[in-house]
Amino acid sequence: MNVRPNVAAMTGYVPGEQPRGGPVLKLNTNESPYPPSPRVIEALRAALTDDALRKYPDATAADFRSAAAAVHGVPPEQVIAGNGSDDILTILVRAFVPEGGVIASPTPSYTLYRNLAEIQAAEFRTAPFTEDWKLPDPWPHADADLTFLANPNSPSGTRLGVDEVARLLAQLRGPLVLDEAYVDFAEADGIDLVATGRVIVTRTLSKSYALAGLRFGYGVASPQIIGELMKVKDSYNCDVLSQVAATAAVADRGYLRETVRKMNATRERMRSTLMEMGFDVTPSEANFLWCRRTAPVRPVYESLREQGILIRYMSYPEYGEGLRISVGTDGEVDKLFSELCGLL
Ligand SMILES: *Cc1c(COP(=O)(O)O)cnc(C)c1O
Repeated sequence: MNVRPNVAAMTGYVPGEQPRGGPVLKLNTNESPYPPSPRVIEALRAALTDDALRKYPDATAADFRSAAAAVHGVPPEQVIAGNGSDDILTILVRAFVPEGGVIASPTPSYTLYRNLAEIQAAEFRTAPFTEDWKLPDPWPHADADLTFLANPNSPSGTRLGVDEVARLLAQLRGPLVLDEAYVDFAEADGIDLVATGRVIVTRTLSKSYALAGLRFGYGVASPQIIGELMKVKDSYNCDVLSQVAATAAVADRGYLRETVRKMNATRERMRSTLMEMGFDVTPSEANFLWCRRTAPVRPVYESLREQGILIRYMSYPEYGEGLRISVGTDGEVDKLFSELCGLL
């Protein structure tokens, strides 16, 4: 049974470890350490009726689109809902990139972009970030069919300013996907660039909204682009319960603000402590920190793992290695520090 050659050649996306059972401190996949808004749980309880599950969900996620549109000050026709923001990224690739086409992204960044290119049998072209996490200027892949920019970026947590993104956009022939999975933790966002008609902003409920298990994300773009994407998505890509929960989550601005405030405070405390411990820690506008040092970091990852603390070890070709550590609660972070103290 021969699958398409590009699929046979793939290794597939490698997600962060999700341990089953055992007391583990998870600082490896950037989940929120706090629960979701209580209004989410309330809304789910109220929605959980026999009748709700018997019928198909709203194919367009109309209630969610209205709620997200209100948050961003755009009409609902400029929002598309997805089964995680990864679903939106897949829809974008299917809509914009032909087989044999080109997808571009700076590196190191979100490793899923390469997998999406491989699935589509498209070429994946990268260009390295500069030493201080800026884009190479000029950008060398101006004629890509689709360009991905994670902003803030992973694993660095760094964010390019709106004018730097605009300078990239000015060079591109095709559309730019601004993957803002972590932007709720940042100082500013790129939503205003949607008005250019060439930018698609993607957001997720997995990180700042503490709903990674729910699988919900969305995209914001021009009505014309959203209209095309709606044709490409699976007809019922968001189930009825996730729509109810996501609608309640984005509407609770106060809860989001408070969770982000706590996590950003912990992030800054983590950064100074990790630097005192001898790590080179990149200033972050996300809910994780990118930590390097001159000595190899893999042993640190492995020793922590033996102690039941999971962080992410990352190694990129032509770049090098580092540890990506998610922001936990203050108590969790103290536990990490005391293990690290014994270890370093
Ligand atoms: C976590 C993450 C996503 C997507 O997450 P979903 O859970 O699919 O919504 C997208 N982009 C980046 C850079 C991420 O880190």
